[in-house]
Amino acid sequence: MLVLGIESSCDETGLALYDTQHGLRAHALHSQVRMHEEYGGVVPELASRDHIRRAIPLLEKVLTDSSIARGDIDAIAYTQGPGLAGALLVGASVACGLGLALDKPVLGVHHLEGHLLSPLLASDPPEFPFVALLVSGGHTQLMRVDGVGQYELLGETLDDAAGEAFDKSAKLLGLGYPGGPAISRMAEFGDPAAYKLPRPMLHSGNLDFSFSGLKTAVLTLVKNHPANICEQDKANIARAFVDALVDVLTAKCVNALKQTGLKKLVIAGGVGANRQLRESLNAAAVKRKFRVYYPELEFCTDNGAMIAFAGAMRLQINPNAAKKDYAFNVKPRWPLDSIREI
Ligand code: ATP
Ligand code: MG
Ligand code: FE
Repeated sequence: MLVLGIESSCDETGLALYDTQHGLRAHALHSQVRMHEEYGGVVPELASRDHIRRAIPLLEKVLTDSSIARGDIDAIAYTQGPGLAGALLVGASVACGLGLALDKPVLGVHHLEGHLLSPLLASDPPEFPFVALLVSGGHTQLMRVDGVGQYELLGETLDDAAGEAFDKSAKLLGLGYPGGPAISRMAEFGDPAAYKLPRPMLHSGNLDFSFSGLKTAVLTLVKNHPANICEQDKANIARAFVDALVDVLTAKCVNALKQTGLKKLVIAGGVGANRQLRESLNAAAVKRKFRVYYPELEFCTDNGAMIAFAGAMRLQINPNAAKKDYAFNVKPRWPLDSIREI
């Protein structure tokens, strides 16, 4: 079965073809990061318009790259939510328009399910059940995953997501948008002993997180410096921020494994690309004797491959999940644990 995946929930347009027999056949991505950079964040209206411009050329690209004719596509999966309403509508209308034209069924996919299953696209993928840490721009959740559609929320952030904390702290340090990768690179040059930031909710006794205080702590450090804060100071603050955030994420993952008795940890979402987080989790895995799995770096942030894959997984379980019903509705807000049924 050949599934076309379309992602357009935020500021990346991603298209991909996933074949249940031969794996990922092609994927193509356009990131709008450059376009939104000058505004310091995603401008929804610009995002929607750009998805309209990019979707069809990216479709042509994946078809050409894989030498697949559009008539050979068996089903079309698109991100139905959560995300920006206007951006989601573009992917949904392209999917439904194509479905109608090609007489193929369409399927709305949950964006976070896409992230969550993305590590299964890697070689040597984990088997169910596992604990998953979803760390993206909008979400930070620990989940017990027993299968496709079987997600039990173990804990989540009470305020900012980890990616959001990265981006906001980077902005305070003048590192541009999105600042996750930049603050991570800068932290490499920081002195770990220069500042110590609090580890929010480290000993809360549950698996919830809170990162907004960390951002405020960064703001306080920045304010304590004269107007022309030097590069070394910035690096020291970046280091303190990354160390605190990574410590909390690692400790909560270890606790989630203890609580569930599972030995497999799966990381998903953009912050899963973070070097320091990977180092810390790898060290914990050796010490505590569990295995940790990551998505390929290119599939940590938003992409079409994870949507094609999630759609294909759902269709393998229930071939009727895709329908020739082209009246689409998007779900800008959509809790993941509400999609248990397949
Ligand atoms: P959601 O999936 O929750 O709707 P999103 O799609 O915007 O949010 P992703 O695309 O999964 O989120 O991830 C983007 C986030 O990942 C941004 O906040 C970005 O700064 C962060 N990020 C990406 N690479 C790194 C890195 N190397 N280190 C730290 N953060 C990173
Ligand atoms: Mg993005
Ligand atoms: Fe995402």
